[in-house]
Amino acid sequence: MVRYVYDFTEGGRDLAGLLGGKGSNLAEMTRLGLPVPPGFTLTTEACRAFLATGSEPAGLWEEVSAHLSALEASAGRLLGQPDDPLLLSVRSGAKFSMPGMMETILDIGLNDDSVLGLAKVSGGERFAWDSYRRLVQMFGSTVMGVDSASFERSLAAMKDLRGVRDDVHLTASDLAELVETYKELIRLETGEHFPQSPAEQLRRAVLAVFESWNGERARLYRRREHIADDLGTAVNVQRMVFGNLGADSGSGVAFTRDPATGRPGLYGDYLPDAQGEDVVAGIRNTVSLSELARLDPESYARLRAHTETLERHYRDLCDIEFTIERGTLWMLQTRVGKRTAEAAFVLAAELADEGLITPDEALARVSGEGLARLMFPRFDASATGAVLARGVPASPGAAVGAVVFDTTRAVRRAAAGEKVVLVRQETTPDDLPGMIAAQAVLTSRGGKTSHAAVVARGMGKVCVCGAEELAVDTGARRFTAADGTVVEEGAVVSVDGSAGAVYAGPVPLVDSAVIRYLEGGRGDEGARGVVDAVARALSRADAVRRLEVRANADTPEDAARARRFGARGVGLCRTEHMFLGERRKLVEQMILAGTDAERDRALADLLPLQRRDFTGILEAMDGLPVTIRLLDPPLHEFLPDHTDLAVRIAAAEARGEEPDAHDVDLLSAVNRMHEENPMLGLRGVRLGLVVPGLVAMQVRAIGEAVAGRLLAGGAPRAEIMVPLVGDVRELRLVREEVRRVLADVSRAAGVTVDCPVGTMIELPRAALTAGRIAEEAEFFSFGTNDLTQTTWGFSRDDVEAEFFSAYLDKGVFPVSPFETLDRDGVGRLVSLAVAEGRATRPDLTIGVCGEHGGDPDSVHFFHTAGLDYVSCSPFRVPVARLEAGRAAL
Ligand code: ADP
Ligand code: MG
Ligand code: MG
Repeated sequence: MVRYVYDFTEGGRDLAGLLGGKGSNLAEMTRLGLPVPPGFTLTTEACRAFLATGSEPAGLWEEVSAHLSALEASAGRLLGQPDDPLLLSVRSGAKFSMPGMMETILDIGLNDDSVLGLAKVSGGERFAWDSYRRLVQMFGSTVMGVDSASFERSLAAMKDLRGVRDDVHLTASDLAELVETYKELIRLETGEHFPQSPAEQLRRAVLAVFESWNGERARLYRRREHIADDLGTAVNVQRMVFGNLGADSGSGVAFTRDPATGRPGLYGDYLPDAQGEDVVAGIRNTVSLSELARLDPESYARLRAHTETLERHYRDLCDIEFTIERGTLWMLQTRVGKRTAEAAFVLAAELADEGLITPDEALARVSGEGLARLMFPRFDASATGAVLARGVPASPGAAVGAVVFDTTRAVRRAAAGEKVVLVRQETTPDDLPGMIAAQAVLTSRGGKTSHAAVVARGMGKVCVCGAEELAVDTGARRFTAADGTVVEEGAVVSVDGSAGAVYAGPVPLVDSAVIRYLEGGRGDEGARGVVDAVARALSRADAVRRLEVRANADTPEDAARARRFGARGVGLCRTEHMFLGERRKLVEQMILAGTDAERDRALADLLPLQRRDFTGILEAMDGLPVTIRLLDPPLHEFLPDHTDLAVRIAAAEARGEEPDAHDVDLLSAVNRMHEENPMLGLRGVRLGLVVPGLVAMQVRAIGEAVAGRLLAGGAPRAEIMVPLVGDVRELRLVREEVRRVLADVSRAAGVTVDCPVGTMIELPRAALTAGRIAEEAEFFSFGTNDLTQTTWGFSRDDVEAEFFSAYLDKGVFPVSPFETLDRDGVGRLVSLAVAEGRATRPDLTIGVCGEHGGDPDSVHFFHTAGLDYVSCSPFRVPVARLEAGRAAL
């Protein structure tokens, strides 16, 4: 018999999948003996069953009734009981936190009768009507589908009528009148009455929460956060407690440490005489918790004690929602809190210092993605211009963009390639698309726990909130700064989410403290905490990881930087970049050569240039392996564009002139070499086998560079890598030539030059015949970009922009296979090639040099697949080190 309902006293944090994050943590707090209003949770399984069939699973309401009866018995009153109503909240709560993305309905159980009872027993007539008003509004919009703006308009009209600015100045009879207006609005828009039956209210609210799982903004959020669409949400039904019962009541949110910096100390916002929704909505400006300590020292002391209990129990930063009802503190929610990348590193180091977690757990708590964020540049402090405003530094980083005042424009302008900064008084969940599109979010209201701040932090987006001196005029699409400066839509501003400052115009960027540390500096004083924490995480990762990290580098400068960042060699040195610029002419000559002698001459001119490049890189990576890939792209990539040439020739002819002979030669070469599908054409090893002298020239350049370094007393370790091999015979032919040339070089130089020869595995056939290929290959390097293209049959240049977004929408894959390795398909080829390659040659060195080498999830896969190293761009090297360490935990 499946069970769909769990009392808070029955669950626990281990049941997050079934009870959702909120429900399982409410149960955990209950178990810890913290003051949690009683209640029960309908499981995600019930939600899944409902969403799959469109109706509630059998037995659900019987179970709900039984739990409700128990709740009523313990409270000593019934749901909606006219003279003294028990009121409930109905709260969504999925396995992974989706702040504000789904629905919550408060004050279930109020109706035309019980509102009078509530007024009497609470001694607050205004409070009772305000609660009823909130219920009708929330229920009307969430459950019955009336646009919430209609309610807001009626509320605004009422305030205008009474000449008051704030809700709190409306009287009980104003609110009673408003309830009537709301009910009428619902009737007009839906043809239905607001349900008076508490049981019906409860049932419909529960179903609405189930349905909110598939709401548009919830779906968008999940896509962005890579949360699966089929998890469903749990629903928590809980006795209401009231923060809006007067000055000795209130609601707040707290973090056990500062979620922006990770520094210790209880941190949060409090709003006296308010329900919790008002705090996150940023409707009124909150006060700090130190103010709460002054207003209500006893509740504050209890809050401190409870938060300490929670942090010790969860051994992590917790965030908490609480409400004080007439001096009694209630805990309404907790979870392991979202944090900035900086806070994650600092916190991990501090919790390890405090002995709450082990060094390995500390490593598990940080991420490569977070580290990448800390490596982003920040503003040059010496170049900042006029400060337009200061606000709360809610989510760090530096962003420059044109200001926009609504989500639609943010999305539109960003889609057109513009960088934008979304400016709002406060954000709501409806602003999510705009926040995703923007470089930064700037609000004039709300604290570090406002919607804007929480969501931006989760997305790693720059955010300054609560910049109160800004007068934001959304309608006129401009804001006015404290000094009177008016900033219109489209004007560029710079937002510093770390300092909480906004500057007029673009401010130049400089390296982050973490980059300066990685470059061998010490970072500046102010950033010492985070730099030390990063250093500790990296050194732990280096100690535990099994994967080596190399870099993709084509120049000595890149190789040197990669080495400073911790790379232990070059995993991919592309030689085609060395054929560009000035040298293009030489490549042209090689291609156009009519005779062997002409071609040899062109190759002979290229040789010293290539040798110089290799020498520099081998020097920068002295003592470490440098894997040099022979020329890969089709040769016509080095020739001019067909249309350009044809136009030039036609123009000359039109002028009655003789076209340039060289142009004519080039055009015929371009025509001769044209390929319908160059990606699958004459490239890679095929070039080497077809163009005489090309491999010999490149190998000679490598061999001579090695010889030169040896004679200079260095320790060069060049490896020669053959691209796009599909069959062992291709590799055998190239390898014979390599041997011949290197023997020649050794003889001439008087030193033995010996370079291992290996191949890229980037065609399915290579993976499938890896056992044979390993007979000739001394190492493998997976070219996962091409392997992904050829396995899926996707042309990367053609598919990513347009149809991938449709594929992502339709859920064919949750993330582009060019970004994160497709384990099921491409990954199987990798695993197969590893196994068969090593079966042939047990000491085969195996690495990966595609873009995936620096992608955290893919790094974990390569670790599991048993590779020896990953190779990625120099700036990803620290990220790969960290993730390789985390993969080994
Ligand atoms: P979210 O997931 O969006 O944070 P919640 O379910 O936490 O939504 O509900 C939003 C707010 O409603 C809470 O922060 C809290 O202040 C208020 N709330 C929810 N349940 C209760 C309750 N039982 N008593 C008082 N307030 C509640
Ligand atoms: Mg909440
Ligand atoms: Mg390739």
